[in-house]
Amino acid sequence: MTDCCVIGGGIIGLSIARELAGRGLSVRVLARDHNRDTASWAAAGIFPPAPLFPGCHSGAVLTAWSDRLHRDWARQLQDETGIDNELRACGGLHAAANEKTIARLRESAADWRRKGAACEWLDGPTMASREPALAGAVERGQILAGYLLPDEMSIRPPRHLEALRQSCQRRGVEITPAAVTAIPVANGRIEGIATSAGLVQAGAYCLAAGAWSEALARPLGLRLQTRPIRGQIVLLSLPRQILARVVNLGLEYLVPRDDGHLLVGSTLEDAGFDSKTQAAAVEQLMTFAHNLLGALPDARMEQAWAGLRPGSADGLPSLGRVPDVVNAFVAAGHFRAGLHQSTGTAVLLADLITGGEPAIDPRPFDPARIISADSNSHPDSVDAYLARAAAESA
Ligand SMILES: Cc1cc2nc3c(=O)[nH]c(=O)nc-3n(C[C@H](O)[C@H](O)[C@H](O)COP(=O)(O)OP(=O)(O)OC[C@H]3O[C@@H](n4cnc5c(N)ncnc54)[C@H](O)[C@@H]3O)c2cc1C
Repeated sequence: MTDCCVIGGGIIGLSIARELAGRGLSVRVLARDHNRDTASWAAAGIFPPAPLFPGCHSGAVLTAWSDRLHRDWARQLQDETGIDNELRACGGLHAAANEKTIARLRESAADWRRKGAACEWLDGPTMASREPALAGAVERGQILAGYLLPDEMSIRPPRHLEALRQSCQRRGVEITPAAVTAIPVANGRIEGIATSAGLVQAGAYCLAAGAWSEALARPLGLRLQTRPIRGQIVLLSLPRQILARVVNLGLEYLVPRDDGHLLVGSTLEDAGFDSKTQAAAVEQLMTFAHNLLGALPDARMEQAWAGLRPGSADGLPSLGRVPDVVNAFVAAGHFRAGLHQSTGTAVLLADLITGGEPAIDPRPFDPARIISADSNSHPDSVDAYLARAAAESA
């Protein structure tokens, strides 16, 4: 019997477990899938700048707080495990391929500045001088202009996950490969949960099962709406790295790694729980890479993968205590920002589980909040992103 059982071994579950164990609680993590089958392993690891600004939306508050925590966690994880999670303030270029997009990016650049983020507008030739590998795309008219966010960061998800896993183990967290099959509630509390490894009992339970959380939360009386949204990624291996920064064009991007790998992502698909890659999507991503970088004769396609983002109908994750079930908590629905928001989520959940004063207001993230039809139009919601993806591929 541990103090807390965390259901889910992705970035959210492991981060919460690490934080709770750091505060002296005994913790068990139940994880059904191998790392590679989680959204967390599959992610690109892009962290856009995260300024705090007047009138900041609750999701932006969580991201800003998490962003600051990530710098501390990266140092601590390296000290504890020797693993460098490659958190780098590499900067991000956001490019436009046509006049219509230039107008949209100009608005977006002004918006970043209004929020207090550094943002530099660049014409095509200046962009090529900053990233010489894009010179061909500029010459061919595939990149016209855009902006640079010098504070955009990137992290390497598989390394970060491994560092978290080792840190958890050093802090005494038990990580059990097991699938949760039922979460029975009796008299307003969970007495134990049924798993493929038998009955598991704990003082408190935290559901952090990503896209699979909605079904598991039903017996708790919650309707979470963590709809799975597939993202596919291709990993190229280059003899030497040719980009210094993340390059974004529409919803697609190139993310350089220190060791010469180049990640090409990603799709945004409403395909249910099918997490297989599709030949057409891989081809689309390779075409994107070639349009920006040319033929790349020395590049080798090392692998391709897909992950299921835990969608959120209103663009906010569900974080906090489950009403009417005294020992149940939820942390799910981080959609496209789960890596970025993982540290703040962990500290907030640990505050709530241990009965401490939460560092940010948890009310907007209430797992029992009513998500109205209007919420679907929030720019960070699943529907808004699916509409954007459809418009960009048309
Ligand atoms: C292609 C792609 C690119 C992305 N890029 C970024 C990015 O650049 N920046 C960013 O911040 N975020 C990004 N994301 C989003 C981010 O990956 C997710 O928001 C985040 O990983 C969600 O983490 P999670 O722990 O909630 O879910 P997951 O990582 O999916 O983990 C869920 C866990 O629950 C477990 N589980 C499920 N069901 C059960 C069960 N019945 N019993 C036991 N365990 C169970 C699984 O085994 C797994 O361990 C991206 C996602 C994808 C797919």
